[in-house]
Amino acid sequence: MSEAAAAGSKKGASSSKGKKSSSSSKGKKGKTSKKPAAARPVRPLRRDVDGPQSVPDDSFEDTDTDGEGDLEDESGENGDPESELEAIERELLSQPAGPEPEIVYAEGPPPPPPPPVKARSLKHLLIPGETLDEVAKLYQVEVGDLAKWNAIRAGEPIPKKKKDLRVITTHTPPPREKLEHEIKRGDTWEAIAAEFGVEVARLRQQNPRLGDKLAPKPKQKLKVVAWKDLDLTPSAGLGTKLGQIRVRAGGLSIGKPNRGKLVRGVELPDRPDLYVKRKPDESFASTHTVMQTMAAITRFRHDSNFKGQVVIGGMSRARGGRFRPHKSHQSGRDVDIRLPVLRAAEGKRHITSADVDWKATWQLMRAFLDTGEVEYIFLEFALQKRIYKAARESGVSQEQIDAWLEWPKKIKGRSNKRVLIRHVEGHRTHMHVRIRCGPQEKHCYSSR
Ligand SMILES: [Zn+2]
Repeated sequence: MSEAAAAGSKKGASSSKGKKSSSSSKGKKGKTSKKPAAARPVRPLRRDVDGPQSVPDDSFEDTDTDGEGDLEDESGENGDPESELEAIERELLSQPAGPEPEIVYAEGPPPPPPPPVKARSLKHLLIPGETLDEVAKLYQVEVGDLAKWNAIRAGEPIPKKKKDLRVITTHTPPPREKLEHEIKRGDTWEAIAAEFGVEVARLRQQNPRLGDKLAPKPKQKLKVVAWKDLDLTPSAGLGTKLGQIRVRAGGLSIGKPNRGKLVRGVELPDRPDLYVKRKPDESFASTHTVMQTMAAITRFRHDSNFKGQVVIGGMSRARGGRFRPHKSHQSGRDVDIRLPVLRAAEGKRHITSADVDWKATWQLMRAFLDTGEVEYIFLEFALQKRIYKAARESGVSQEQIDAWLEWPKKIKGRSNKRVLIRHVEGHRTHMHVRIRCGPQEKHCYSSR
């Protein structure tokens, strides 16, 4: 096991304090993925032990085999797939590349999901200082009902030990975001409130354990947190930036990600303001994938405060096809991206989950999801908990995150086929994004 892998699983175990998730995250390594109980044989993951040794930065040393056992299964096909792919390649190369695509973007946030017809029961996570009245108003319910659902006597405050409230409602409140500030010497409540854009009194209320003076002892880490209603006003200027993305036409994906080719592969343009490419000769993809990748990272840079690097680990080779250590990445639709790291971890050789900026990681994933063109994002199950938390803290509703993410429900030994963010072993320090086939790509196929 590599050091990064060791660090990754150690982290998972220590953070979950011996609960079920830690044993399941370890279990994957051993029995569960290799010995399914069913009669259906699943081939063992292919692991290239002699992987990319010469690579200077080994923060990517996750074994990216994209190993879903059934991705490999080609038994249903007839003929020689290799010569078939070559015939398609020749045919496409003889045709004109077509016009340059453009991103049409409507200014403003994505439309909210339609309200559910039936009232549903949900958990509201309490913020320190929050009152029954405020929560009732937030969900448009009667305060008396809210008290009753939570066995609180009318007129009494919420008991201090309560962390959440049960609410039955048809109304979806505006999302709110958790902001954090690590206290440094000389910080004042006023300055932090101004930084967050919230009222001082409100901020004090939300941090009841901190006194008047914000004076951490040496080596002590203290945080001020604030919960703020999310600003959903249109994202000014993003449409212009997206409209300026220009990508050469004609880069077409053929076949499947694990058995495919790339025709007129488009090199990911150099855009140091957006990302850095770690392996330029493996940074080719279809026109559609390059377009969507640039659009997602443009959106991420626009919406996020993250100032660090977004490192593109690998896509496909210019003509596609298989290359080590990947099993997929063959048809110009796969993108490996290092998880954004905290400033203190920039330049570190081995990153662990403590080095990852999970808020930025979630924002980056979200930016990809918002393109509407993502087929999957692969990330190990044990790390999805961090994504879940970051997403909830940035105002994503539980229903929405459940529709995107496997965690906390794992279907034993397999990934959940109904969600976009899925467990595939080997994705600990990077995420693997697969973009859908583009509208022009008639010979592009999904894995199944
Ligand atoms: Zn990958």
